[in-house]
Amino acid sequence: MRAWHVDTPGPVTDHPLRLSLDDEVPRPGPGELLLKVIVCGVCRTDLHVTEGDLPPHRAGVTPGHEVVGEVVELGPGAEGFAVGDRAGAAWLRRTDQECKFCLRGAENLCPHSLYTGWDADGGYAEYMTVPAAYAYRLPHGYDDAELAPLLCAGIIGYHALKRAELPPGGRLGLYGFGGSAHLAAQVALAQGATVHVLTRGEQARRLALELGVASVGGAADMPPEPLDSAIMFAPAGELVLPALAALDRGGTLAIAGIYLTDIPPLNYEKHLFQERQLRSVTSNTRADGREFLGLADEHKLAVTVHPYPLDEADDALRDLKAGRFDGAAVLIP
Ligand SMILES: [Zn+2]
Ligand SMILES: [Zn+2]
Repeated sequence: MRAWHVDTPGPVTDHPLRLSLDDEVPRPGPGELLLKVIVCGVCRTDLHVTEGDLPPHRAGVTPGHEVVGEVVELGPGAEGFAVGDRAGAAWLRRTDQECKFCLRGAENLCPHSLYTGWDADGGYAEYMTVPAAYAYRLPHGYDDAELAPLLCAGIIGYHALKRAELPPGGRLGLYGFGGSAHLAAQVALAQGATVHVLTRGEQARRLALELGVASVGGAADMPPEPLDSAIMFAPAGELVLPALAALDRGGTLAIAGIYLTDIPPLNYEKHLFQERQLRSVTSNTRADGREFLGLADEHKLAVTVHPYPLDEADDALRDLKAGRFDGAAVLIP
């Protein structure tokens, strides 16, 4: 099968990804499904794995963790899916289910968690395996390409929205407006929020306005009104300062990314006092995933996708880094 590998992480402009044309199709282990990849979304985390912002966990790993696939084989003891079913594979691949975090329902914090496309080979390939217990049923009313971004961008955006503790009818600021933010914005709008988008991309601003946000501005601009909650999707630590300064008393800023450049020194009075809170968002639980996909099933989300053939995955990552498209890129084998 064809599959991409990260041999030596480095800047995407230096071609760190290698396309292999004759990999063996993986075998599903105990409890695993073998998926024929139908679509794999391109996520910013794939860029961090490819460029080495995230330390390598598996030599030559195949990235990709927004996978819509067809079950073609079941490993021993795999339950819940049958050959021919469609299934989604996402970032969270496995947790131990015995640590204190797993036991209190916070498996996203499990210190023994494994991730698709980082610890195990992901969906920049024609086939991949996924533990059946961590695979998702997919919502109805979407085509395959539209489903892929829901599986990470959508789920993480939803978890970030929960972490931002937006009050009912509240004012939400979104810093950066890519795959994840454009889905979180729609969930927030559906819940009655007023949404302000702060981003450098001209296309992204147009998309935000089309989706019904109240205002758009530059990445470090002040929104037209104080924010009850904000979510930082841009991996730019320097934006944490204007985002905190834009919060109303008691407001919360959640940082959605797995990677952020250094945050410059904060000024207590200007950035934190009056009980403003700064929080991170780490992965998601399967419950978050099922909750979000359930919402997506009930409420049709507009998903903007840019298809690339699987063989052009490295172009897709370069375009993502350069901000050459709005919405989400997807790879089609
Ligand atoms: Zn655990
Ligand atoms: Zn992702």
